[in-house]
Amino acid sequence: MKYGELILKGANKSYFDAILLKQIRRKLKPLGEFRVFTSQSTVFVESEDDALLDLALPELQRVFGVVSLSIAYRVEKNLDAILDTVREKIAPLLIGAESFKADARRSDKKFALKSPEICREVGACILRTLGKAAPKVDVHNPREVVWVEIREDFAYVHAGKLPGAGGMPYGTSGRALLLLSGGIDSPVAGYRMAKRGAFIDALHFESFPYTSERAKEKVVDLARKLCAYTDTVNFACIRLTELQLALQEACREEYFTILLRRSMMRLACRVAERQKCGAIVTGESLGQVASQTMDALRCTDAVANLPVYRPLIGMDKEEIVRTSREIDCFETSILPFEDCCTVFTPRHPKLNPTLEEVLEEESKLNLKELEDKAFSEIEFFRVNR
Ligand code: ATP
Ligand code: MG
Repeated sequence: MKYGELILKGANKSYFDAILLKQIRRKLKPLGEFRVFTSQSTVFVESEDDALLDLALPELQRVFGVVSLSIAYRVEKNLDAILDTVREKIAPLLIGAESFKADARRSDKKFALKSPEICREVGACILRTLGKAAPKVDVHNPREVVWVEIREDFAYVHAGKLPGAGGMPYGTSGRALLLLSGGIDSPVAGYRMAKRGAFIDALHFESFPYTSERAKEKVVDLARKLCAYTDTVNFACIRLTELQLALQEACREEYFTILLRRSMMRLACRVAERQKCGAIVTGESLGQVASQTMDALRCTDAVANLPVYRPLIGMDKEEIVRTSREIDCFETSILPFEDCCTVFTPRHPKLNPTLEEVLEEESKLNLKELEDKAFSEIEFFRVNR
């Protein structure tokens, strides 16, 4: 496996390496025994059992910090052994390809052949083996590259590169609290932050019995989908029913949404503090709904005492949906269940609330007391795959 971005990390590199290896080992543990190690900026995952490696491949493609993967064959460091593998394992992969070239790298400079000589031998071997079915050689712009790497202990032969998940190893960028609803956006926001290395905890708000038990299960299912990338998610749930009913009773309807979002943000900051999260993450995208205008977001941020990250702020819905499908959340997200934001939705939400107006509405009831109560009844559990 290649990991491009990590190579750039200079003095911190060993820290990132260690976390990446830990993530890989954790992913592979349920599958069986593997040998996992790094050497010369490449991670090696070895097994004698090809079937196990086939199982490992899709798992490894979801490990953040891995840019690309290839299946490599480890062989003795002599030309005959290398060419045997090229003939038996690599040549069949090239049938039907448009063009190829052979490339070689020697970190063991004492190896008898120089890189150009190895390339010539390997290229000729493929042409000989495949005859008429051989792709043409194109050294400038080949479709496929057959690699031979002569390392200290062994030679490695591989062709074909599979894409990795990219990003930074999970957990190398601190811990963030994701506000997770049952919608399309917030799981994508969590995925994007996890991809940048942030450890993700989730917080969900419900309004039972206006929102059902099944609606909450759907959100837990979404957290479980994220676990394909994050392993586990600490899940917190706060019930807002009483607070919402009190808002409805005391305040002007057009302000419900913004008032609710401010309460959510205050509570989120308290949860984040307790769980030692350094930031809040939401799935908001500028202008998508009334609570996501600049003025509304500003009113929400005014109560946050932590940075609020909104990785989707500049994304269109189609782009968000594309990612949602890629991470297998979409089909779950579109299941029709009510959300606590929708059960008390005002008919005409205020698009451009000012802080003065919002503060005036908030002064009409004892929000502190309501929030304290909701916070004291918080529910915690851990979601696994
Ligand atoms: P999503 O598709 O993520 O639900 P949305 O487009 O429906 O987003 P809103 O309902 O305004 O937009 O929510 C904006 C953001 O606020 C969500 O992306 C999420 O981060 C947070 N949020 C909304 N509802 C909840 C909830 N019930 N629990 C936790 N967070 C929520
Ligand atoms: Mg929503």
